Amino acid sequence: MSRVFNFSAGPAMVPEAVLKRAADEMLDHGGSGMNVMEMSHRGKTYDAIFRGVEAKLRAVMDIPEHYKVLFLQGGATLQFSMTAMNLIAKTGKADYAVTGQFSAGAFKEGKRFGQARACADTSDIAYSKIPAQNELDLDPEASYVHYCMNNTVFGTKWNYIPETGDVPLVCDMSSCILSEPLDVSRFGVIYAGAQKNMGPPGLAVVILREDILHPVSPIPGYMDYAAQIKAGSMLNTPPTYSVYLMGLVLDWINERGGLAAMKAYNKKKAAVLYDALDNSALFTSKVEKASRSMMNVVFSTGDAEKDDAFVKAAAAGGMVTLKGHRAVGGMRASIYNAMPMEGVEKLAAFMRAFEASV
Ligand code: PMP
Repeated sequence: MSRVFNFSAGPAMVPEAVLKRAADEMLDHGGSGMNVMEMSHRGKTYDAIFRGVEAKLRAVMDIPEHYKVLFLQGGATLQFSMTAMNLIAKTGKADYAVTGQFSAGAFKEGKRFGQARACADTSDIAYSKIPAQNELDLDPEASYVHYCMNNTVFGTKWNYIPETGDVPLVCDMSSCILSEPLDVSRFGVIYAGAQKNMGPPGLAVVILREDILHPVSPIPGYMDYAAQIKAGSMLNTPPTYSVYLMGLVLDWINERGGLAAMKAYNKKKAAVLYDALDNSALFTSKVEKASRSMMNVVFSTGDAEKDDAFVKAAAAGGMVTLKGHRAVGGMRASIYNAMPMEGVEKLAAFMRAFEASV
């Protein structure tokens, strides 16, 4: 068996220790004689797993008690719609900071349900930087302000939490959740697909304040946060195995010292790659330094043929899925929590060797 360093933007690497534990429990979970995915979601054993994962997430993220936690299907994409459907009816208006592919997707959904307006839009500069607080054109009458903290495709990150007064903040954290400690109380809704930092695809986590809900009418039953809260995320069969696996990832994070330790390690890993970029005469990045992502490092040689040769040679050396998103081209190294320093150092060394060879 040989494992590669997988730089995929998601689904992405899962810590090896987690995969091994899942393998150990594959045929018999805790003496039950079955795998977790074979259990009834309404049975006692699974209920304990499900509630346990919520408790672990609350502890790891320090989620205040009055926030609700939901485990849903439909990925982060369904949350583009659900956030709008559940919040916009307060005033019928909402603000969206459009700083990349997915925030543009959320904006599009917001427009289906009310007067969604762009309070910032960096498409004219190819989403290469995050707007400053004073560049946000905020409407005090908006029902909420939506933004995406880490732009997976373009490799930018909001390195501050926007101040929006009394208007609740809704944040897509799909590609940065659990990468660093965060003050959850600054947010009205946090949502994220699991397949980058939390485990396998098929699960979206939503953390929300129930008092800010103002749903459109009618609202489909599954998409009604209040109904999901009432049913404890079990209106229907939840993504049982994905939730269980996320629990193993949370155990792994805890064993390594929690989110403060994740941040310190992630910062060091990102610095290795950004240093390699800054010291290179071949590789460049379009991202403004202050907006650099700690999770997705986007770069290129400026020459499509060389980029292609780089991606192929890296794959031959055990560093896979480095091809950039089709909207950007070039390369993208996604270095979520599970990517070890060893993988990042190997990539930086490979960048230097490649540069010397061309
Ligand atoms: N938001 C962000 C920031 C993402 O990176 C992604 C997926 N790459 C999505 C939303 C969409 O997620 P999903 O595929 O889970 O719907």
